[in-house]
Amino acid sequence: MRNVVIIGSGPAGLTAAVYAARANLSPLLIEGWQSGGQLTTTTEVENYPGFAKGIMGPELMKEMRSQAERFGTIFKTGDVTAVDLKNRPFKITVDGEETLRARTLIVATGASAIQIGLKNEARLTGHGVSTCATCDGFFFKGKELIVVGGGDSAMEEATFLTKFATKVSIVHRRDKLRASKIMQDRAFKNEKISFVWNSAVEDILGNDVVTGVRVKNLVTGKVTELPCAGVFVSIGHRPNTSLFSGQIDMDAKGYIRTIEGTATNVPGVFAAGDVQDSTYRQAVTAAGSGCMAAIDAEHFLESQDHSS
Ligand code: NAP
Repeated sequence: MRNVVIIGSGPAGLTAAVYAARANLSPLLIEGWQSGGQLTTTTEVENYPGFAKGIMGPELMKEMRSQAERFGTIFKTGDVTAVDLKNRPFKITVDGEETLRARTLIVATGASAIQIGLKNEARLTGHGVSTCATCDGFFFKGKELIVVGGGDSAMEEATFLTKFATKVSIVHRRDKLRASKIMQDRAFKNEKISFVWNSAVEDILGNDVVTGVRVKNLVTGKVTELPCAGVFVSIGHRPNTSLFSGQIDMDAKGYIRTIEGTATNVPGVFAAGDVQDSTYRQAVTAAGSGCMAAIDAEHFLESQDHSS
């Protein structure tokens, strides 16, 4: 029986672990097979306070994990395959085998990249289609690439990819970017980046590897083929909440609803980070809510002890 089980190893989960461990609650953190969350697939993080010169995403996550470990967090590697939140203690099944029991649960499962939804996108994933420039950019030295999307992620991915590619075309469905001004300016100034406005990728071409995309102009209806060796899809993220469906209240997009700090509708279950935040979605806000979740769990345990 654990006082606190945390699911997720991004900034929210690891910050919750630091605070819960320092409160002597001996948290157990289930970190999944790919530890570290979304920041492990990013490059330089320039806006996390405390790093005046910036820090690489994977390095930041390594530091956070070491910090949580230093105060006694126990890590368990595996995927949570089922949760039973009907009664306390909650039951958490890992990899379909082991069942853990927890007096409180902190859900920090984050979000995952959204796909366009094309048949050939799925077929060619890993063969030229990617959602992670940091992971796969290196394979496209001297090639032409497409980035889909108009947000900060698309600008960041495109800018990073110009280290390797000869040309990066950003295909965006509108004629205005959603990205912040600084990220837009960086992309506009980069000579290797060009924009294909008001356009959607209709198909990804290639037998064994990507050779191009078919793009439709949404204003004129004109369809053109653009040759490229890779397509980086950067159109946002979806919360990783399917595991909790029917057990924790969520909004229409599947984000966990929090009430009073990080509390959910299930007493003893708290949610932190991108899994409950469709607005800010920053590493620092995730870390902040992870801290809140640990404090909320601590208060909850205290109130239970007093009432029993
Ligand atoms: P986002 O801001 O939600 O942008 C998603 C982009 O993809 C939008 O331009 C959207 O078009 C487009 N899109 C969505 N669905 C599409 C579809 N089915 N087909 C084609 N295009 C589609 O997501 P994000 O860029 O991943 O950023 C998420 C959050 O992380 C934001 O808060 C962002 O500021 C933050 N972030 C910050 C940094 C940084 O500061 N260094 C870096 C990365 C991300 P519309 O514009 O038409 O809706």
